[in-house]
Amino acid sequence: SNSNGRLSSFLESGIYRLHLLNAVFVDPVRVLNRCYTQFRLSPSRYYSRFFDTNICCDHHERTEDSNSKKRKRKENKKKKKKKEPPALNERELAADERHRQVRPLLLKAHECLMGAGDLLAVIRDLRNDFGSASESGGISSPVSECSLIELGSVWQAPFYEITLNLPQDYEPSSSCDQQNTQRVVAAFNNLVGNEMETEVVAQLLGRNYIIPRDSCFYMSDLGQIRNLIPAEPHCGFNLIVIDPPWENASVRQKLMYPTLPNRHFFLLPIKQLSHVDGALVCLWVTNREKLRTFVEKELLPAWGVSYMATFYWLKVKADGSLLSDLDLLHHKPYECLLLGYCHGKGDVQGPAPVWQSSLRHMKADQIILSIPGAYSRKPPVGELLLELVPGLKPARCIELFAREMIAGWTSWGNEPLHFQDSCYFLSD
Ligand code: SAM
Repeated sequence: SNSNGRLSSFLESGIYRLHLLNAVFVDPVRVLNRCYTQFRLSPSRYYSRFFDTNICCDHHERTEDSNSKKRKRKENKKKKKKKEPPALNERELAADERHRQVRPLLLKAHECLMGAGDLLAVIRDLRNDFGSASESGGISSPVSECSLIELGSVWQAPFYEITLNLPQDYEPSSSCDQQNTQRVVAAFNNLVGNEMETEVVAQLLGRNYIIPRDSCFYMSDLGQIRNLIPAEPHCGFNLIVIDPPWENASVRQKLMYPTLPNRHFFLLPIKQLSHVDGALVCLWVTNREKLRTFVEKELLPAWGVSYMATFYWLKVKADGSLLSDLDLLHHKPYECLLLGYCHGKGDVQGPAPVWQSSLRHMKADQIILSIPGAYSRKPPVGELLLELVPGLKPARCIELFAREMIAGWTSWGNEPLHFQDSCYFLSD
């Protein structure tokens, strides 16, 4: 039947199209696994939270879960105590209006998920490591305390080298490294690529990192990002995904990674990174109204990006239920990805490319449902976005402030290798 087809294609692709148009359930593990042929991501390492039976591998995750429970209880209590909702200030009213507009769509998508019994049965088991040895401790050693961010910020950083182990059957084009199956290059402030058709294992200071096929990373501070601007305009990027380290009141966030004041994001050279024919620019934003206003009124215009549509990431637990009450004022179970278009240098006066107008005319707002992984980790949306960039194949894609790598993509940030650590993969 139709539903059987949907389920089997989900098991293949990690993407389940719900009956409702423009809503999908995503299993990031399955989606990401399509980047690899010899390695598999560990579902239990990916889904470190929101599974009941879950043995947390990280103390912080546990505290966050209990904190969010506490917060929820507090918010619920507040809700019950006051029969009359407190008067909202101007900003809260604006946020509430945004929420009201998308609420029916989110509810409908969630209803659809709860109605898909076959899918729900599979979701419950997404965290299982495919019966691999990992249950009995087959997973390689946990993430080291020494972070890439710290490594990159010490004076020795320019001297750290990463060793790429090229496969034995790799036949180098130049005769000088015929014997050599290892490539040693600077790990920081350097574009490091795996142009091979299969993943390679790389070593940096005693840790193993899995580098997907046809991908590269540039590990640096924001100050170095200009080195990614292509020399040739037609070598610019067609798709730019950005997940900035927005400042936020949460103490926990400050422990996880450094944040940057908003004015620093004006420095991102979005126009220069864009392909001469323009780029689809996708920006993750939080629900803080003050940030949304800043992004819409100041940041996007400064980048030369015109807003087109929004993707909503609706977060669910292993039983399909929402992560939190949909209507909590300050803690929504969804995040937004704003989609916009950046004119490349080449087409300022010229006609808009075909795909831009096709994007304008289609109903591009989408709902993506998934179970969150590690703190602040976003679901892999590249494939869903590429559907909106027709005609440019293969598209040139880059992720800014990335913590992981994707086959076919460039990843930039101060820790783009973070989730490539072999401890996030199953050992065989
Ligand atoms: N999209 C990522 C994911 O799904 O895992 C999360 C990105 S997180 C919101 C922001 C990232 O920006 C963090 O990895 C943080 O370390 C990095 N970052 C913070 N300050 C930076 C800077 N000055 N230069 C480069 N990267 C920075």
